[in-house]
Amino acid sequence: MSSPEVVIIGAGAAGLMCALTAAARGRRVLVLDHANKAGKKILMSGGGRCNFTNMYTEPANFLSHNPHFCKSALARYTQWDFIELVCKHDVPYHEKKLGQLFCDRKASDILQLLLVECSEAGAEIRLDTAIEQIERTDTGYRLATSAGEFACQSLVIATGGLSIPTLGATGFGYQVARQFGHSVLPTRAGLVPFTVTDPQLKALCAELSGTAVEDCLVSCNGQSFKENILFTHRGLSGPAILQLSSYWQPGDTVHINLLPHIDLPEWLAEQQRERPNSELKTLLAELFTKKMAGLLAEQWFVSKPLKQYTPAELNAVAERLADWTLIPAGTEGYRTAEVTLGGVDTREVSSKTMESQKSPGLYFVGEVLDVTGHLGGFNFQWAWASGHAAGEVV
Ligand SMILES: Cc1cc2nc3c(=O)[nH]c(=O)nc-3n(C[C@H](O)[C@H](O)[C@H](O)COP(=O)(O)OP(=O)(O)OC[C@H]3O[C@@H](n4cnc5c(N)ncnc54)[C@H](O)[C@@H]3O)c2cc1C
Repeated sequence: MSSPEVVIIGAGAAGLMCALTAAARGRRVLVLDHANKAGKKILMSGGGRCNFTNMYTEPANFLSHNPHFCKSALARYTQWDFIELVCKHDVPYHEKKLGQLFCDRKASDILQLLLVECSEAGAEIRLDTAIEQIERTDTGYRLATSAGEFACQSLVIATGGLSIPTLGATGFGYQVARQFGHSVLPTRAGLVPFTVTDPQLKALCAELSGTAVEDCLVSCNGQSFKENILFTHRGLSGPAILQLSSYWQPGDTVHINLLPHIDLPEWLAEQQRERPNSELKTLLAELFTKKMAGLLAEQWFVSKPLKQYTPAELNAVAERLADWTLIPAGTEGYRTAEVTLGGVDTREVSSKTMESQKSPGLYFVGEVLDVTGHLGGFNFQWAWASGHAAGEVV
């Protein structure tokens, strides 16, 4: 039986960060993953360019049943620490917007730097390895795997969430957590497009599939995001919708202000005064694409020359554009979700070290924990910070 001091299950963002940190301290580290490649999600992330952190990362960018949990790790390994690592490896990057940092070239630059750091520090990574059984021993843990048995003092679970099973996601981390007496909070897909079933709404979304509306204000359950929305064949997507999906529960109404930057009642009244013979459809085509203007004019309003609208009718137009309400039928689920909400209950894990309070020597890092970031590089920052926190002590 081989005996590394630390075994990390999961060669994703959090597992690799934990491995390179622990190995740099001189620990004998073995990373095991059932996939045939390390860091598959990193490679897919940010449209292939990996939005690897956010310059404005704060605890308020994370959802958790225990909102204080993420603070300590985020404060001890910040976005600036990761940026320093990126610079050390001469990886070119840029801010896309809102503090979101992306690779100039491709996401593999980030994976490569993690693998180089792991290799230089002496961490071993074994892929294509199925974990069959885990047992507690007097001195730590014993693992039975498809690559043989391993014993270790510290066992780190870095198996991520359920999103995108085709990239290797499994519920294995939750299973291990339960095995050692942990509570796992209900999981659901986050940062995920909405689907619609109402026939008229579905037809509208399908007709406008691919159309984006910039800087909409979307709200639900007291949370608002101002960003782009995107119509899809199945419903709605785009950054504003993905952000909101993490706060949405089935049955909740979503409010969309399509034109939050315009005082619509005043603007419509002004247009009526200045160009009374213009049709509403023509006016809307100055704000949206021609196709969208035509469809809205047809389905939501009766398009006629502006002079024919009563003040009450104009107000109704303003209200519809500023507060389009809809109840999504659901989300696209784990198939396309970027993250999994819920997971291992952080109230049973040390916020300083990520060590289990139920089973000494067992650690949970990354997305398997009930900590979920907003869209914009925050999920990787959590993976780096939590992986580093455990890597310092395992
Ligand atoms: C398409 C997509 C794009 C994204 N883009 C961004 C982005 O640009 N910025 C951002 O901040 N976040 C992004 N995210 C979210 C981000 O990828 C995750 O939050 C992050 O990868 C979580 O890191 P992790 O190490 O906890 O888990 P993962 O990166 O998911 O790694 C888990 C690892 O565990 C392995 N594993 C799972 N089960 C087992 C098992 N039973 N046995 C052995 N190994 C196992 C997996 O193969 C995997 O290698 C994106 C997610 C997706 C799906």
